[in-house]
Amino acid sequence: MSLSKEITVKPGQLENSICRNKDCKNPFFIKVYVLKKIPKIISGASKNIIQPIELYICKKCGELNPEMTPDGVLSKDN
Ligand SMILES: [Zn+2]
Repeated sequence: MSLSKEITVKPGQLENSICRNKDCKNPFFIKVYVLKKIPKIISGASKNIIQPIELYICKKCGELNPEMTPDGVLSKDN
């Protein structure tokens, strides 16, 4: 017996994540990366490591989608 319940939902029944810019509200996003530098002193590697973090920006106005942005990921330059 399985306790997990299978839920079947068609994509058309789901709400879209839209651009938060109220003059835009575009539902299409482009995948971009922010490249985080991990200092060798932290990683223990012989050189700094670049760690890409995936983010989504509005295809129309370039606004970042906060629902797909890990908390504080841009804090250093925002
Ligand atoms: Zn937008």
